[in-house]
Amino acid sequence: MSKLPATGTNIFTIMSALATTHQAINLGQGFPDYQMDATLVNLVHTAMQEGFNQYVPMSGYTPLLQTLANKIETLYHHQINPATDITITPGGTYAIYTALISILHPGDEVIVFQPCYDSYIPNIIINGAIPVLVDLEFPGFTIDWEKVKSKITHKTRAIIINSPHNPTGTILYENDLLALQQIILDTNIIIISDEVYEHIVFDNEKHESVLKYPELANRSFACFSFGKVFNATGWKLGYAVAPQHLMNEFKKVHQYNAFSCNSPMQVAIHHYLQQPDSYRQLSTIQQQKRDYFSELIKTSKFNLLPSKGSFFICADYSGISTEPDTQFAIRLTEQYKIATIPLSVFYENKTDNRIIRVCFAKKESTLQQAAEKILSI
Ligand code: PMP
Ligand code: GLN
Repeated sequence: MSKLPATGTNIFTIMSALATTHQAINLGQGFPDYQMDATLVNLVHTAMQEGFNQYVPMSGYTPLLQTLANKIETLYHHQINPATDITITPGGTYAIYTALISILHPGDEVIVFQPCYDSYIPNIIINGAIPVLVDLEFPGFTIDWEKVKSKITHKTRAIIINSPHNPTGTILYENDLLALQQIILDTNIIIISDEVYEHIVFDNEKHESVLKYPELANRSFACFSFGKVFNATGWKLGYAVAPQHLMNEFKKVHQYNAFSCNSPMQVAIHHYLQQPDSYRQLSTIQQQKRDYFSELIKTSKFNLLPSKGSFFICADYSGISTEPDTQFAIRLTEQYKIATIPLSVFYENKTDNRIIRVCFAKKESTLQQAAEKILSI
């Protein structure tokens, strides 16, 4: 019997395949179509030539762990022990999954906000745990913390948060983190904080990491992705940060799963992160893309919702069609040669607000070609 009976092929695979079949511009799956920084590529090459081609320690290349600990202290004023509190993982998704496996027992409840990144709910269900859904408030996709409070029971084991948010591009603010901290104060709830877009935050807003809040940091797994940060999604490399008692459990799982991750890339990232500006330009670059694309299609029939971070912006197409969003996204790909992702797939109960998710982390020429097609609708 299937352990995930309700789970089919994920939407990213489906829409990317459809984009290829119809030779459509792929603004669906979240990956850049431009080259990553050649400096980092060269650093990998050098690391390989210097012989960093064998296993690094289970939790990661030791100097990289120290570099990440320093970065966390600089950005979030949180001190961690690199020997015990970080593990390098094969991507952010793996970090989230491993965190969940390491804490969940059958029957545990996990609060998840929807719409949400598509891996969370299957990750919960496969552990025999129960997703407890809280809708983000429409249309701003904000969290009503009173609703969260009302869903907490003695079975609540974890809450998954994600900022900047995929698929909506919204972010959590200080008052959100403080509300969360207050709600879980007298509980044993663990936070899984998906922060893979930590360096892609717009309009001079700041990323609010759980690591900035001591009460949260003491009971959180914060999950990150080098793929997202360094325009190298195919690298599938990331890391998890947690206090030692939680990270111990994480490592018990990790050591018999991946055990350790790609060595030359870890060496290269360690060197790359010594440059003070290695991640500081990322928000500016993506904000320019968001603004460029928004300006190009401002006279179209789509209504763009605010995006405050991530690679994504949501577009309301109710001025164009009353079709369900999946049907609309497929037609957009087949007829107008633009692939996007329908927002309803990020809801467990398929709420359909006539919205599609658009990835703007693309070359200007791609965005321009896409805009021409969009303006013809
Ligand atoms: N979380 C979110 C919200 C994401 O958008 C992504 C990127 N697909 C991930 C996690 C996973 O990142 P990675 O590719 O490093 O597994
Ligand atoms: N994170 C990317 C997205 O949301 C892709 C994830 C994937 O392909 N599994 O588009």
